[in-house]
Amino acid sequence: MPVRVAVVGAGVNGLAAARALARRGHAVTVYEQFELDHTRGSSHGASRIFRLSYPDLEWVRLAQQALPLWRELEEESGERLLELNGIIEFVRGHGEGSQRALEQAGAPLELLDPEQVVARFPMVRPPEGATAVFQADAGIVRADKARRAFEEGARADGAELRANTRVDDLEDLDEEVVVVTAGSWAKGLLARAGIDLPVVATAETVAFFRLESDRPVPSVVDFKPGGLGHGTYALADPKYGLKLGIHQSGKPVDPDDQPAPDEELVELMGETVARYFPTAEPDPAQVDTCLYTNTDDERFILERHDRVVVGSACSGHGFKFAPVVGERLADLAAGIL
Ligand SMILES: Cc1cc2nc3c(=O)[nH]c(=O)nc-3n(C[C@H](O)[C@H](O)[C@H](O)COP(=O)(O)OP(=O)(O)OC[C@H]3O[C@@H](n4cnc5c(N)ncnc54)[C@H](O)[C@@H]3O)c2cc1C
Repeated sequence: MPVRVAVVGAGVNGLAAARALARRGHAVTVYEQFELDHTRGSSHGASRIFRLSYPDLEWVRLAQQALPLWRELEEESGERLLELNGIIEFVRGHGEGSQRALEQAGAPLELLDPEQVVARFPMVRPPEGATAVFQADAGIVRADKARRAFEEGARADGAELRANTRVDDLEDLDEEVVVVTAGSWAKGLLARAGIDLPVVATAETVAFFRLESDRPVPSVVDFKPGGLGHGTYALADPKYGLKLGIHQSGKPVDPDDQPAPDEELVELMGETVARYFPTAEPDPAQVDTCLYTNTDDERFILERHDRVVVGSACSGHGFKFAPVVGERLADLAAGIL
């Protein structure tokens, strides 16, 4: 039975959910408080890391589910959304990082010593004492093209998108079901509906560096010993060559504030680039901010409370999963899950 569904927020998760719902014949209206291509949330910019490499088997499996759905969206949009030049994960101990989980998931990998890394990727300099877990089904997803492809897919199946339309109270919406994919703003909006969302918004700084290379640039992550995951991450950027960030280095923020890039972090990123990518220009060509919506264990919150479906999938690693998250939210909205 078709359902009338409101989707609050046109970031990558809202657009993915809108497309999944519209394809199933539901009547979808997307409400976005800003312009569709704004840069105030979590989904803007040209690239995000796509990877299967996670220390946790569950995440490897979820990424494996996402990969064919990205290919399907490429087919549908006629756009190349994934540029998979592989990922190098630097580790310092046996079994550290994603090796075991990748093996359990049957994902091919290679263990490379520093010389092998440099031979294959001359623009990368391995850190002292590290070896590498290389996985080929990884690289970047073109974030700008992906958002457009989800949007066009949703519109093609009849979804309506209303930009510059802020929803202040879910009671103001007369649709039967409301999917809240409001990113860092979701906590406040859901609290007004009596739903507690245990997340913290942080303002993350990223920097872009000029890197010329006649070889494809892989994504690079340095595993944070004892941590949940990665510290430094770097990926190809279509405009400058290289994008770099330090995972979860941002400060808590009110999403309505427009944070400035953290100058101390920018300086640290310049030093980091000089260490890992010696042929890159150490001074950033551009810096940017972006919001993380963090749960304490980086898990996603995808659940239903009566007519409200909560879609909070971020903690700085949600983009790659958008096609799967979109389907899950559509299942929740249609009462299938
Ligand atoms: C610096 C950085 C690096 C990242 N790197 C990676 C990576 O390499 N790989 C990866 O997989 N992921 C990465 N991520 C995470 C990924 O980008 C996010 O998980 C994803 O973009 C979250 O999308 P979203 O749709 O949930 O949120 P958003 O994109 O923020 O969308 C929420 C939307 O809701 C709108 N909205 C909010 N409140 C209202 C309201 N009341 N009414 C109407 N509209 C409203 C907002 O304006 C916004 O457009 C990174 C994130 C950052 C910040």
